Amino acid sequence: MRTNRAAIAAALAAAIAAASAGTACSPAGEQGETGEAAVDALHRDSIVVDTHSDTTPWFQDPEWDFAARHETGDMDLPRIREGGLDVQFWSIYLGRREGDGRAIREALERIDAVYEMIRRHPGQTELAKTEADIRRIVADGRIASLMGVEGGHIIEDNLAVLRTFQRLGVRYMTLTHSFHTGWADSSGTTKVPEPVHGGLTSFGEEIVREMNRLGMMVDVSHVSDDTFADTIRVSRAPVIASHSSCRAVADHPRNMTDDMLRALAKNGGVVMINFYPSYIDVEVGKRAREHYETIKDQMNEIRERAGGDLLLRMREGRKLNAAHPWPQAPLSTLLDHFDHAIAVAGADHVGLGADWDGVPSMPSGLDDVSKLPALTHGLIERGHSPETVRKVLGENLLRVMRENERVARELAGS
Ligand SMILES: [Zn+2]
Repeated sequence: MRTNRAAIAAALAAAIAAASAGTACSPAGEQGETGEAAVDALHRDSIVVDTHSDTTPWFQDPEWDFAARHETGDMDLPRIREGGLDVQFWSIYLGRREGDGRAIREALERIDAVYEMIRRHPGQTELAKTEADIRRIVADGRIASLMGVEGGHIIEDNLAVLRTFQRLGVRYMTLTHSFHTGWADSSGTTKVPEPVHGGLTSFGEEIVREMNRLGMMVDVSHVSDDTFADTIRVSRAPVIASHSSCRAVADHPRNMTDDMLRALAKNGGVVMINFYPSYIDVEVGKRAREHYETIKDQMNEIRERAGGDLLLRMREGRKLNAAHPWPQAPLSTLLDHFDHAIAVAGADHVGLGADWDGVPSMPSGLDDVSKLPALTHGLIERGHSPETVRKVLGENLLRVMRENERVARELAGS
């Protein structure tokens, strides 16, 4: 494996050097560089974008320091730097919240937490609201921070809230989380729930159109297949699946069928591949359910003890997971999803949406964000061209964002 990888990487070194020509810091062509170093340079010189991190609630924990390197969890500043990640969409994730204004209030607290994290680390990261912002911030050697709202229930059926989120910098909204909203059906998490709308209602369609007008990317991760089809029909701008993988490789309702991948490509959109072992590998998913049974009582005990104290629940949950590690899938399984999505949707329609800190394990060999270069090495080893790898790592998402901005300008006066 190792020899094969080194040989292929060496053979590609020249091509990578050519692809990187003109970038200031590429050492790929220099004497003495190995193929492995050329792949490292490709990773470093590419704009690496991820569209889904659930690290956001940790920004609200005064005992957790983003600038310190942690032994648990998937990301912090030192590990983001080590992994060469340049652009992160922080998820405004809440889970299910019902009732007057509660979801809106908690989302505002979460958005504030992102702003506060940025305020504390001005030399490291800045809020990006446009594709041009991203390129400027990354060229400046800093991390571009963006936000995506996870679940249409969070706007509480109010377009004014949607617009206000956009003004605060939110650049995508997942139409549903793992339960139906009053206007869109969800895919559920493990079992597909009975549909109630058969896709989007007319208000759901109105929300998609308003997002197009605002330049907020429409996210189809977590939605039902019918909601996906309706969204593709209605959206004037390319859509994203911020953290979904391929159903043909792993039959799971959170993943996309080949027909969906083709429809997404036709729409000009991008599927951002989810790394979660239970989604990408059916066997691992079974083992994860068995694992859950062994720690279920302890999880319930934590939930009861913590009550409404989210921070306590997060800290204790993380300790429990560290003491009882969840099953992992090999990196090769994740690469199978990238191969498949690239083959079916095309190299212009695939990207990264790992679900950092939103799931209890990552693939082995890509255990946290610091290991992200292993993905680039794996893609090169699988025979993808440096140009394809560069697109998958970030350029595809940047194109979709630019396209959403163009559609918003077109619709501005409507
Ligand atoms: Zn999610």
